[in-house]
Amino acid sequence: MNVADSDKLAAGLAKLGWQETAKPEDADLAVVNTCVVRQKAEDRAASYLGRLRRMKEERNGENGLQIAVMGCMVGPRTDDLRARFPYVDVWARPQSFDLILRHLVPDSDLGGEFWPDTFPKPKGPTAFVPIIHGCNKFCTYCIVPYRRGRERSRTIDDIAREVASHCANGVREVTLLGQTVEAYGKDLDDKPDLADLFAAIHDTPGLRRIRFLTSYPRDMTERIIRAVADLPKVCEHFNIPVQAADNDILARMRRGYTIEEYLEWVHRIRDIVPAAAISTDVIVGFCGETEAQFQRTLDLLQELRFDKVHVAAYSPRPGTIAWRHLEDDVPQEEKMRRLHAIEAVQERIATEINDALLGTTQEVLIEGVSRSRTKKQVGADREPPVLSGRTRTNKLVHWPRPPGQTDARLGEMIHVRITRTSPWALRGLPAGRHSVQADAAVPA
Ligand code: SF4
Repeated sequence: MNVADSDKLAAGLAKLGWQETAKPEDADLAVVNTCVVRQKAEDRAASYLGRLRRMKEERNGENGLQIAVMGCMVGPRTDDLRARFPYVDVWARPQSFDLILRHLVPDSDLGGEFWPDTFPKPKGPTAFVPIIHGCNKFCTYCIVPYRRGRERSRTIDDIAREVASHCANGVREVTLLGQTVEAYGKDLDDKPDLADLFAAIHDTPGLRRIRFLTSYPRDMTERIIRAVADLPKVCEHFNIPVQAADNDILARMRRGYTIEEYLEWVHRIRDIVPAAAISTDVIVGFCGETEAQFQRTLDLLQELRFDKVHVAAYSPRPGTIAWRHLEDDVPQEEKMRRLHAIEAVQERIATEINDALLGTTQEVLIEGVSRSRTKKQVGADREPPVLSGRTRTNKLVHWPRPPGQTDARLGEMIHVRITRTSPWALRGLPAGRHSVQADAAVPA
C-alpha cells in the first residue's frame, strides 16, 4: 500500500514539474513514507530521518533539503512528532498528498481533474493498484484503522482507468490492494464486489494477470472464490491472515472469526480452486498467549500446509486497544523462540510443497533481471544474469538468461521447467516463450 501511495505522490509531483533523483543527496525534497505496523518498521523510519537530518545540516541556503514525512507514522495530532523531529518540514497522513504538494507549490490547483487524471508511472511489468483504503475492523493489536481511517472504495471506473493506463505503459500484471480487499464495494452506492471488479478489468488490453491482497476471512464470499476459479486472468493465490489458531486469542485480538470458521473458508477455497496457493500471516506472543495456545498455531500450520507464512512477534502499538487494555506478558526471548519454531515448521512444509514442483513446467511472467552470487563465488566473478518472475501461484522463479540474449523481454510469459527447488524459490530452465493469455501450470 505504501509503495502504491509513494508512486501516486511521485505522479502528482511529476505533474507539477518535479523529477525523481537517483540519490537523496541530489534531491531538493525527500519524502519518507512510513509504516508503524511493527516497532521495527517505526525504528527504521526514525533512523532514516536521522540520516536525512545530517544531510540537511550539511546543506545550507537555497539548496536546502526539504523533508516530508507521510504514512502511518503520522496521526491526527503531530505535536509529539514535531517536537521529536523538528527538522521535518511537512507531516502528512496516509493519502494526504495535497498537503505535500501545497507545501512545495502553494498556489497549485489540485482540484478538478488533477488527481483523477494522475496515474503512477509503472516501473516494470507489474503494478499495485489500491482499490479500497482504510479498515473498519479494529483488531486490538493494529494501528491501521487509526491511521488509514475507515474503508473507502474507489469506483470501478476510476480503477479501470488506472489499470488501462498502466497496461498502455507496459504493465501486464496488477495486484489489487486493500487492507481487507474483499470488503471492496460495500461502501459504494451500487455495492459492487471484488468479483464485479475482476470482471470489469479482465479484458483490459495488454493485461495478463490479476492478483489481489489481503483477504480478511469474514469478508470472503463464495462468489469471489468462484470468480477466481472462473476468470482465467485472476491468479489462484490467496493471502488470508489467520494470526492465531486458538479461539481465546482470536477473541482477544478481536479478529471477528473462530478458527472453525477460518478452516471452513480455507476448505471452501481448496474445493472450488484446487490449484490455489494459500499464504497466511501469524502473530506469536500476543498478550496472554500460553504455550498450549501457541502449539495450536503450530498444529494448524501442519494441518493446512500453507505455501507461505509471514510470521511476526507481537509488539504493542501505542494507541491500540491491546496497548491500552492488555498486558504484553510474553517475554521477548519466548516470542522469538515461538517465531523461530513457526519458521522451522514452515520451512519444512514449504520445502515439501516446492519439491513437488521439481520437473514440472510453470508459466512465469518475466519480471526482472538480476545477478546472483553463491557463497562460493564471493570475491570471484559474478554469475551470468538471471531472469526472475513468479508463477500464477506467486512462487518466485529464477532461470539463466540465454547466452547472447540482451533483451530481457520483461512482461512476456515464459514456460520454465523447474530443475531445483528451495523453500523460498524455484530455479529452472526456459522451456519456451508463449503468448497464451493465461493458463495453469502444465506437466513436464
Ligand atoms: S483487518 Fe485487523 S489487522 Fe487487518 S488492517 Fe484491519 S484492523 Fe489491522
